[in-house]
Amino acid sequence: PMCIFSGIQPTGVPHIGNLLGALFNWVSIQNSLQASRASSSSTPPPELYFSIVGLHALTIPQNPATLAQERKDMLASLLAIGLDPEQSTIYHQDEVGEHAQLHWLLSCLVSMGRLRRMTTWKGKIATARGTATPVEPEQGGPTAGEADEGIADVDEEHRDLSLGLFSYPVLQAADILLYKATHVPIGQDQVQHLELARDIAATFNKRFPSSHTTPKSSKSRREPPFFPLPQPLITSTPKILSLRDPTAKMSKSAPDPASRILLTDDDTAIRAKVKRAVTDTERSISFDPEGRPGVSSLLSIIAALRSYQAQQTQSTLDPFAAASAGVTPKEVAQQLDSSGGGHALLKETVTSALIEVLGPIRERFQQLKEREAQSGYLEQVAALGREKASVRAKETLGEVKERMGLR
Ligand code: ATP
Ligand code: MG
Repeated sequence: PMCIFSGIQPTGVPHIGNLLGALFNWVSIQNSLQASRASSSSTPPPELYFSIVGLHALTIPQNPATLAQERKDMLASLLAIGLDPEQSTIYHQDEVGEHAQLHWLLSCLVSMGRLRRMTTWKGKIATARGTATPVEPEQGGPTAGEADEGIADVDEEHRDLSLGLFSYPVLQAADILLYKATHVPIGQDQVQHLELARDIAATFNKRFPSSHTTPKSSKSRREPPFFPLPQPLITSTPKILSLRDPTAKMSKSAPDPASRILLTDDDTAIRAKVKRAVTDTERSISFDPEGRPGVSSLLSIIAALRSYQAQQTQSTLDPFAAASAGVTPKEVAQQLDSSGGGHALLKETVTSALIEVLGPIRERFQQLKEREAQSGYLEQVAALGREKASVRAKETLGEVKERMGLR
């Protein structure tokens, strides 16, 4: 049976990069599966798990009060964009203890060498060192065979980085495998981590082929692998760039708040931030991500928002074709250029598209926060998600422990 898992860290209100690059895709998967569920009853319904991964947030220092707030805000954000707690299992990873337990069991199957080669880890080391250019994880990482030059001196380089940060991808593998997920919607930056999850799954399947208590005779029959190897569903939206510096990606943690547009930004804030967005001095409008990153990122935002709006009105039956509906950045460029409005028209168009899409989402976000204050609504949604997730989590962990000899 098909099972989809994806997660996001509660490290701040999502920005439009998060929305267009990841979260809207979750909603379109949910909605298209609902449409296909309604039309065919023969196949078992796919399961959807969308997780707020608080344990991952702790791998770098967090202010407890801020984290507590951001956990709630992330749940409100996921509901505000249209995830439905009845159709999807929406839950806090840190409330389902099996994630941490499976992390431990899997951590004993992965070598330090394998983890040291993770691009994200190498990027953190480069940043901590403060000298070398940080490896940009979002650029898509080097492959496992790459030389480890410069990270031999473990004690010196890793002094201030936590064991949890090193183990981040193993926890991610545990998240995915706990639900025996078959598909994982991710951005390009996460491809290497998913490869690790697949390798861990394959290692487990090979080393623990079936329960050691099962009699030999029934073992000989071919059984399906315990963990399916999870496949990536890579988002088609290109990386959205910082509004202030089009050589960097838009990010929650960048110091300048004007570099990103948040789900909670009001119309005035949206207008002001787009107005200040860095573009270039060419008068025409063209889509050229290499030569004109600022302009091109704005075009990508318009195209992605329009595609999202098109999906809202017609839900497709194929969850994997969902992202192809709508218009391309190139087409947007041609439309704008032929009407001759230049950069002013480009920015007006981005602004109004953002206001149209974010307005209703922001309103729902605020309503959810009010409902939470009045009746603890988010708490109830979290409890429902926790219960649903725990069923599968307990089942998998029990089987894993048994196979490993802990029963
Ligand atoms: P941080 O700066 O704290 O790392 P972030 O903005 O990179 O925050 P993440 O929580 O790391 O956000 O990522 C959540 C999801 O959003 C991931 O799937 C990631 O690929 C996607 N994403 C993040 N930034 C962008 C972006 N600028 N454009 C498109 N997708 C993005
Ligand atoms: Mg990130």
